[in-house]
Amino acid sequence: MDFKFTTWEVAALYSRRSSIRIPEYQRNNVWTQRDKAYLIDSILRGYPIPAIYMHKAQTVPEEWHIIDGQQRTEAIWGFIDNKFPLPRDMALIGEYDLSGLRFTKLPQEFKDLLYHTDLQIVMIEPGTKQEVADMFQRLQFSKPLTPPELRHADADNQMRNFVAELAKHPFFASVSYPNTRYQHENAASQMVLFELKGEPTNTRSTNLAIMYNQYAGSEFWGGKEGKALIRNVYCILDLLASYFPTVHPGLKLVNSVALYEMISTLSKSYDLEPVAKKIGDWYSSFFFSLIHNNTLPINERSPQLTIFSSNAGLVNSSAHAARISILMNSFFSYFGELETLPVVETNRTFSTAQRIMIYYFSRGHCQACRTEISWNNWHADHVVPFEKLGRTVIENGQALCPTCNRQKSNKAFA
Ligand SMILES: [Zn+2]
Repeated sequence: MDFKFTTWEVAALYSRRSSIRIPEYQRNNVWTQRDKAYLIDSILRGYPIPAIYMHKAQTVPEEWHIIDGQQRTEAIWGFIDNKFPLPRDMALIGEYDLSGLRFTKLPQEFKDLLYHTDLQIVMIEPGTKQEVADMFQRLQFSKPLTPPELRHADADNQMRNFVAELAKHPFFASVSYPNTRYQHENAASQMVLFELKGEPTNTRSTNLAIMYNQYAGSEFWGGKEGKALIRNVYCILDLLASYFPTVHPGLKLVNSVALYEMISTLSKSYDLEPVAKKIGDWYSSFFFSLIHNNTLPINERSPQLTIFSSNAGLVNSSAHAARISILMNSFFSYFGELETLPVVETNRTFSTAQRIMIYYFSRGHCQACRTEISWNNWHADHVVPFEKLGRTVIENGQALCPTCNRQKSNKAFA
């Protein structure tokens, strides 16, 4: 983004009025007539007034968008339009008493003085919409836009539009965090990233921004893959909304994303319908055991629940995988092993949902040598090899560390 410092006479600001726009994100902070009158008083006295920030849009004919200085601009236009008088209690300027006068009644020399006053203009060009919105936020509130706000600022981005729609889903009426600074969109975008990658993925804001850029156009969303993804996300959110018809105190941002990821994973392998009515109860018991766990002496705490609470701030893929695993652990101990049929795959490779399940059943350890494994570094292995008619089902899968996996495949080729 480039800045150009320039000056416009008041006359130019007035004559270009039909080409000057006030963008939608402008705060509707309206000045009183007294505020406006004192601004004109300051100009007539030759006092400096703050610069007006503008953005020159890439349009023909040219158009300027005011980033900061809407009230000052409108005050100047309004005064020249004769809409309000100068302050009645205005002090003399030299020997002139201008108090209570409207523009048309001003002595000609003051009209000329006003017309030819130089206004400081900061021209921002060209800049993306997000940059311009960010600059506006900084000027108004002295702080930058948060990453979710930045992502929201680009109204032409199809990913942004999809996520903005998702954030209106009834499920988000049941979460325990408010939508301040687009936090519902923030959660929804993480859910979409999970579906796009098909596995636990680092959800730091850089990665979300990359996803927004990659899926900005309509090609993906109009295609078969995009439509399937949209259906899938809505399907999982519908399930969640049916489990949580009212606000649940345990549905904090991180938890709601983890729960989404876990239900999305489970529902690819199991039919959850028989237990659907009790999922809300299960989650309540999980949430209360989380709270209870934190009140226990450290040596009596459950390691899993402690990890769940303590890694809530982590966004890397292993932290996501750990949260899914811990939720699944609680889920299976609440409902017992599910009788419903796992989805049978004839594929040679495990699906991501199966891999998440296998990772979960391994409790994060290599099932041959027991060393710890992380989501980024492990292999889903057929216990009975595929070549020997071992099936690609969760029951025939095990998690191996890279070393054990290499040893096993070496043996197979020996
Ligand atoms: Zn191993």
